[in-house]
Amino acid sequence: MPQFDAILFDFDGVLADSEPIHFACWKEILAPLGVALDWEFYRDRCIGLADGDMLRLFAQRCDPPRGWEDLMARYPEKKDLFRSRMLHDPPFAPGLPGILERLHEGYKLAVVTSSGRTEVEPVLEAAGLRPFFDALVCGREAGSLKPAPEPYLLAAKLLGSVCPLVVEDSEPGLASGMAAGFETLAVSSPETLGEALFGRLQ
Ligand SMILES: [Mg+2]
Repeated sequence: MPQFDAILFDFDGVLADSEPIHFACWKEILAPLGVALDWEFYRDRCIGLADGDMLRLFAQRCDPPRGWEDLMARYPEKKDLFRSRMLHDPPFAPGLPGILERLHEGYKLAVVTSSGRTEVEPVLEAAGLRPFFDALVCGREAGSLKPAPEPYLLAAKLLGSVCPLVVEDSEPGLASGMAAGFETLAVSSPETLGEALFGRLQ
């Protein structure tokens, strides 16, 4: 018997190398508001945070000072820019289709992400990867965001899974999987996903 009956993937930073694109879009959209962002700050403090919490952090770096609501008002613009860049050049590792094809033979697969469905599903479809996933849980579809357990609990329920493996790149994401009571695998980048995953599944 395999140890797991499903694999639940985070999207940003696990399936797609999308964090540099999120960062570039935020930087561009918020620069006119006086927000200075650098990659190290974004990478170390912001990845895995809900967008509202991240914008509160960004607001502390505004010069002149602004409320985070001013930044939130630019969210639709950032979303559109991100979506068009992702669709134009989806940042999936070249080996990802082969990895998913191999896994799909033995496991149910789902994507569990705090990003909105409109940011994720069209990109998976454009890359021909959507058919590998039996379910997507996006944004607040489970009622709460990571690090709450609900997103992973809902994905397991949709798949009828009792012992899934959660694959994550961020602390809030790993905390969400653990709070759901599931085994977790931390990966450092989409490029190392296959190696980390097949090492764990052996
Ligand atoms: Mg992530």
